[in-house]
Amino acid sequence: MTTTELGLPGLRTAPGAAPARPDDPRLIDRFGRVATDLRVSLTDRCNLRCTYCMPAEGLDWAPTEELLTDDEIVRLVGIGVHRLGINEVRFTGGEPTLRRGLESILTRVSALTPRPEISLTTNGIGLARRAEALAAAGVDRLNVSLDTLRPERFKAITRRDRITDVLDGMAAARAAGLNPVKVNTVLLRGVNDDEAVPLLRYCLDAGYELRFIEQMPLDAQHSWQRSEMITAAEILSHLREAFTLTPDPTERGGAPAERWLVDGGPAVVGVIASVTRPFCGDCDRTRLTGDGQLRSCLFARTETDLRALLRGGAGDDEIAAAWRTAMWAKAAGHGIDDAGFLQPDRPMSAIGG
Ligand code: SAM
Ligand code: SF4
Repeated sequence: MTTTELGLPGLRTAPGAAPARPDDPRLIDRFGRVATDLRVSLTDRCNLRCTYCMPAEGLDWAPTEELLTDDEIVRLVGIGVHRLGINEVRFTGGEPTLRRGLESILTRVSALTPRPEISLTTNGIGLARRAEALAAAGVDRLNVSLDTLRPERFKAITRRDRITDVLDGMAAARAAGLNPVKVNTVLLRGVNDDEAVPLLRYCLDAGYELRFIEQMPLDAQHSWQRSEMITAAEILSHLREAFTLTPDPTERGGAPAERWLVDGGPAVVGVIASVTRPFCGDCDRTRLTGDGQLRSCLFARTETDLRALLRGGAGDDEIAAAWRTAMWAKAAGHGIDDAGFLQPDRPMSAIGG
């Protein structure tokens, strides 16, 4: 197995001290978690430039030859599903709808047995004309990112004048039966933090499920500051000015969003408080970057090079074993609050959000 050390080895157990991994085919780790949810980044490119994600000029995109091919992606997902107990696959990026052949990848993954649940996280551009094809290709659930309802603000946050495309895309996804369409919102202090209530009203009226995501230290510019982020507590306090929120009694499981019934339900709103209320203890994720690096966590500082194994002729057994070994070493938590915390070298858009 090729493992790339990206930085401080603080999360590693000293040689010889690591507990032996039991003989279990699943993606277990030392803390009793089992990863069943695979996030696959299909590209690091994007057609928006959200200020909290990447700089105006974009990034140095990975060259095509470094990206996994369609066949390589389908093979790795198949290994995950057939040998490692993966039952949910989310495609993301960058902007996954920019990946040529997306529908074909989806169709091939949906033909796996057992068929995993398939979801897509997108910025919604182009969705208006593609939602039906995506649903037909196998997408079960869809998340669309929308941080504001105001066109001028949308332009300022994403550096593109495309809000109508996104709103039309969400409506098309709903019409294509991808319900409930989930809407992801990041609130930024002094930019859109007065829109929690209008965004929730909009989503309630349209039948979308809104989830607020705390801003995380994963931007390419490394400009995240904890003191500047809008916390879950602030979000809930804004929402409670207009709505009654009660905890959703539904089992949360490994879901990142804490959910609240709005005005008694059945509508819900979610808050993904990765920073102030981390859910690492229940994490069930494993991640594959567009260039074939396996990560046990968004914040991991090590990656395992599955692409090198694939291209070096490794068999499925060998790849599955490398995947298991990597997940066994998964850290207990992301460590954002640790004094020695270091942001991963790759930004969210290159890891897959
Ligand atoms: N381009 C697609 C999109 O925007 O939905 C998929 C990739 S994007 C990285 C996935 C999600 O991550 C989006 O909802 C986006 O708002 C969120 N995101 C990006 N940077 C973030 C950050 N620093 N902290 C929290 N969420 C972030
Ligand atoms: Fe693109 Fe998504 Fe990042 Fe916005 S958050 S720049 S849409 S990858």
